[in-house]
Amino acid sequence: MIVFDLVCGAGHRFEGWFNSAADFASQQERKLLGCPSCGDAHVRRVPSATRANLGAERPKPAPKPTPGKTSDMEGKDPFAIAQMLYSRMLDDLLTKTEDVGRDFPATARDIFYERAPGRAIRGQATDEEHQELVDEGIPVARIPLPPKEGLN
Ligand SMILES: [Zn+2]
Repeated sequence: MIVFDLVCGAGHRFEGWFNSAADFASQQERKLLGCPSCGDAHVRRVPSATRANLGAERPKPAPKPTPGKTSDMEGKDPFAIAQMLYSRMLDDLLTKTEDVGRDFPATARDIFYERAPGRAIRGQATDEEHQELVDEGIPVARIPLPPKEGLN
C-alpha cells in the first residue's frame, strides 16, 4: 500500500491509500475518488512526500550469512584452539614415533648416518645434546611438553 496526499477542488487535503500509483490513477480517472469533507471528485495528488506503508510486508532483515562451519573450533578462544591443535599434534607425535628415551641423541645419530633403520623417534636430549645434533645437521625438533604429558 502507498499513501498519497490528495487535494480536492475545494482545497481540502486528505490522504488516500492505494495499492499502487496505477491504482490511484485508475480510481482518479473513473472518478472513484471523493473528498471526505465535501465529496468533490476532482481529486488530484499534491506533490508531497510519499510514504510507503510497508508494514508487515517490510522485508525481514536478511539473516546474517552463516559462516561455514568448517570445524569445531568455531567461536573458541584462539588460545584454546592453539592448545587443542598442539594437543592433537602431540597425540599424533606420540602414536607415530618410537620412544627411545634417553637414547635419543645416539639413536637420532644412528638413523641419520643410516646405522639404524630409519624411523620417527622421540626421546630426551639435553640442551647440549640437542645443539650437537643441530650442529651436525641432523633434523631434530624440540617440543615443549605439558608436564603431565611427559614423553617418558
Ligand atoms: Zn473537499
